Amino acid sequence: MTKSSKSIYVLSTGGTIAMHRTSQGYAPAPGHLAKSMEKLPELHNPDMPRYVVHEYENPIDSANMTPDHWAQIGDHIQKNYAEYDGFVILHGTDTMAYTASALSFMLENLSKPVVFTGSQLPLFETRNDARENLINAILIAGHYRIPEVCIYFNNKLFRGNRCKKVDASSFAAFASPNFPTLGKVGSDIVMRHHLMRPTPDASLQLQRFHAAEIGALRIFPGISPELLRQCLRQPLQALVLETFGLGNAPDNKMFFDIVKEAVDAGLVIVNCSQCTTAKVKMSEYAAGAALLKAGVVSGGDMTAEAALAKLFYLFSKQLSLAEIKMQLVKDLRGELTI
Ligand code: ASP
Repeated sequence: MTKSSKSIYVLSTGGTIAMHRTSQGYAPAPGHLAKSMEKLPELHNPDMPRYVVHEYENPIDSANMTPDHWAQIGDHIQKNYAEYDGFVILHGTDTMAYTASALSFMLENLSKPVVFTGSQLPLFETRNDARENLINAILIAGHYRIPEVCIYFNNKLFRGNRCKKVDASSFAAFASPNFPTLGKVGSDIVMRHHLMRPTPDASLQLQRFHAAEIGALRIFPGISPELLRQCLRQPLQALVLETFGLGNAPDNKMFFDIVKEAVDAGLVIVNCSQCTTAKVKMSEYAAGAALLKAGVVSGGDMTAEAALAKLFYLFSKQLSLAEIKMQLVKDLRGELTI
């Protein structure tokens, strides 16, 4: 067995992986995770990277994540960047795809692996998926050159900003419907480096997200014009509009006028499909072409999670509206197929 010389910074934000049982159901417990990890003999094998664990004083269910928490995670990575070879972020599965997407934009010129993982059953349970996810995430972050923010879950390594939580209880909680997996873990670990982002020359920069009024709206058959009008009102600055199929929405005059008026008043609307696997093509149907004519921007094959994070990022860079719209249709972190 070769002794690993790598060292990993493990940040635990909470989530099921770090929870214990309470009378109200699973809940985060401070200090619980590090103690459970100490009891795992595999983590002390010489071929495992060395690691330090930093646990949030108040670990959270990821349903409570906010852009401020995203910034805290970014701060931890930035502060410890020079000292460690890779980073493992333990996080609840519910909003992991949002946080991983946000960090992929925040961490400019990332050249080290940042691997998010969590589990559907807590580490303390006899039968759990936490153990495998944790061990493999640490191994991958330590032993592979991956200049990306990833999610490792159930033997698969995904690009973080391509992921969606697709199953609320199976161990296969995540999928990357519009982009192949970056790696697979079986009896061998197979990494697909040709699919990964190039390693940047410049040094890491953290682009913190500033407060911005960004929203998301999933349209549905019969959505009322009044509801739509209310949703698009100021102070909203940008919206991920989740549409049907290839990016279609009602193309009646009332719907069109409300959307156009909002865009003309400066609202940035990004069109993402409600379909799990999809690439928006607004010119395919008249019902999509109306949105295009109203000035809605195509989200292409971005997930709604990635589109939302990208909006936060672009609004934080203090760009003009025209520049924001141009950047939205560019591939910045592998989030979009051009
Ligand atoms: N509610 C939990 C969370 O997202 C679910 C999980 O971790 O699997 O924090």
